[in-house]
Amino acid sequence: MAIAAGGSDPRPLRRSGGAPGGQVQTESDHQMPRAIIDFRNVTKTYHVESGDVKVLKGVKLRISAGEFVALMGPSGSGKSTLLNIMGCLDTPSSGTYMLDGIDVGSLKETQLADIRNKKIGFIFQNFNLIRRATVLRNVEIPMIYSLKENRQAVAEDLVRYVGLGHRMHHRPNQLSGGEQQRVAIARALVNDPAIILADEPTGSIDSHTGEKIMALLKNLHEEGNTIVVVTHDEYVAQMTNRIIRIRDGRIIREDWILHW
Ligand code: ADP
Ligand code: MG
Repeated sequence: MAIAAGGSDPRPLRRSGGAPGGQVQTESDHQMPRAIIDFRNVTKTYHVESGDVKVLKGVKLRISAGEFVALMGPSGSGKSTLLNIMGCLDTPSSGTYMLDGIDVGSLKETQLADIRNKKIGFIFQNFNLIRRATVLRNVEIPMIYSLKENRQAVAEDLVRYVGLGHRMHHRPNQLSGGEQQRVAIARALVNDPAIILADEPTGSIDSHTGEKIMALLKNLHEEGNTIVVVTHDEYVAQMTNRIIRIRDGRIIREDWILHW
């Protein structure tokens, strides 16, 4: 499979074969695609001094393993809140979030951290890179917690995969916005997550660079990962397979996109 960075896939730890997301489907799944993300009437209310802020008002949403989904909506409509709950960075106020068949609400903080580490790659809106660390080090850091071997080699391969082989020892402030975003993507991939969540990954970069970022995400989708990307950009959204539109804490519309 061709990749954006050019050449053959250099990553050593990718899964080969198997169902999307690397999970085996069972008899009980019948013909229905397995929902890796299943929101059952999820609400989120923040309590602030001036009162309660109802951000999510009953979200029902199923995303199958291997889907590539765009989440769109006006600023303040709850996109980041929804993505944070999907990524186990936050929990619902009510309703249920089933992640790969597990009720996330029933888990303790240590179990949530474990799921975040193993199953989810989160690409933050503001990159969240460590300013004093090199590109290579930034990508290596999540592996410290997963006791992975060959950490440096894995990080080097991923940095090359996102097309930054010539920037390994640079620090974030020596990189463009698009390059920093690619570091953030490499870092999100180190633990080989089945689910990749990206919050406006093309928001703060020019459209040409945005295309490179999307090409990377598309490639990851083709390899079987489940991807949810928050975007304001219709062009970006059209590259996915489904656009989910949210307004004022509710899903108001979903469109499936056929690519020929
Ligand atoms: P979006 O990503 O669509 O712009 P967010 O999910 O970030 O929207 O936020 C939705 C609403 O929730 C906003 O009005 C925001 O101010 C509010 N909000 C988000 N996080 C918090 C918080 N931790 N405490 C209080 N209000 C919050
Ligand atoms: Mg947001």
